[in-house]
Amino acid sequence: MKIGNAIYLDHQATTPLNPNVLEQMMPFFCSEFGNPHSSEHFMGWQAMCAVDRAKSEIAITLGADTDEIIFTSGATEANNLALYGLAIGLSQRSKRNKILLSSIEHKSVYETVLNLVKYHNFTCNIIPVKSDGSISEDTFNDLIDDSVMLVSICSVNNEIGTVQNIEYLSEISKYNGALFHSDCAQALGTLNLDVSNFNIDSLSLSSHKFYGPKGIGVLYLNKDLHKYIKPIIYGGGQQNNIRSGTIPVPLCVGMGAALSFVNSEKNNGNFSEVNNLSKYFYEQLIASGLDIKLNGPEFSNRHYGNVNIQFKNCSGRDLLSSLQPMIAASTGSACNSFEIKTSYVLDAIGLSEEEANSSVRFSLGLATRKSDIEEAVFIISNAVNDLMRVY
Ligand code: PMP
Repeated sequence: MKIGNAIYLDHQATTPLNPNVLEQMMPFFCSEFGNPHSSEHFMGWQAMCAVDRAKSEIAITLGADTDEIIFTSGATEANNLALYGLAIGLSQRSKRNKILLSSIEHKSVYETVLNLVKYHNFTCNIIPVKSDGSISEDTFNDLIDDSVMLVSICSVNNEIGTVQNIEYLSEISKYNGALFHSDCAQALGTLNLDVSNFNIDSLSLSSHKFYGPKGIGVLYLNKDLHKYIKPIIYGGGQQNNIRSGTIPVPLCVGMGAALSFVNSEKNNGNFSEVNNLSKYFYEQLIASGLDIKLNGPEFSNRHYGNVNIQFKNCSGRDLLSSLQPMIAASTGSACNSFEIKTSYVLDAIGLSEEEANSSVRFSLGLATRKSDIEEAVFIISNAVNDLMRVY
């Protein structure tokens, strides 16, 4: 995919809005602009009807009921609401006070749990991961016991693309009486997220990771838990008192439409094609003679577009800046990249500081073409070779 002359390889940071999705959103900005909570007139009903349609699309994809879908501003808020809301909401009725989370969770999970530990008498155990980012079953079994209230595992990692065995982890959690939350912001396109196949109590999504608009996400929350969750936003009591605030109709419509777009692309095998192209990209970089190593799992167990690579003896930041403005990629997740800090995800899979700092995350998307990849390989290998001469 080209933006002008530049090649966009940062789809895990965000994806472009699908034009057909935008078209479906447009009427709800200007002509059908009613407030969905205006329950006394036809414009409110019209708006709520559009929200309900979007909700149905999302619920069907997740194998959930429509009333289990709660709109939020994104996966950050959904993760906060699930973890904070359930932990605080259940703390009065449960003796359990431990939270288990993996060492490669997104900051929106990690920081929420740290807050619960710091200010609310919770404890947490961080589950170490193997060198490919996956959680070993034995390690998980050793850590889970009847003191655990909540387990939070990201199903598909944003930096190294690792796909966790959610089916197993959620089942063991349930067996031990713990609730299971999964950050699924990066999962669509890679995994089928039917909650009826897993013992998932809650999961989060963010629409801009799958060709929908930014600023909208969803928390799926099993309806049995609705009575316990404590809101993190108070106001007019919208969405069954779980998340107050006016529902942004155009964004909800966009998220529903994006989901139906992604479902049809998945059924047509187009994400598998991107996965093949990701592998091809890595192979071509090797063929160009660069001294590189793939961080994270094999392509068969990885986010469809993730290619996280270590460039031996070359700084990832230097490389990225010398690729400007030809290629957009990143050294870590977009949320962390303003910090000049070694990636904690790469640290968790056992990379040295030097190896982590020589790594770059490329992420391909549905519109990435073989010709883009071949051009990118040419540009990257020249840039690395030029940097090697300077060092
Ligand atoms: N979880 C993961 C795994 C993510 O990749 C992201 C986005 N980088 C989020 C949560 C947060 O999503 P948002 O910024 O859209 O709220």
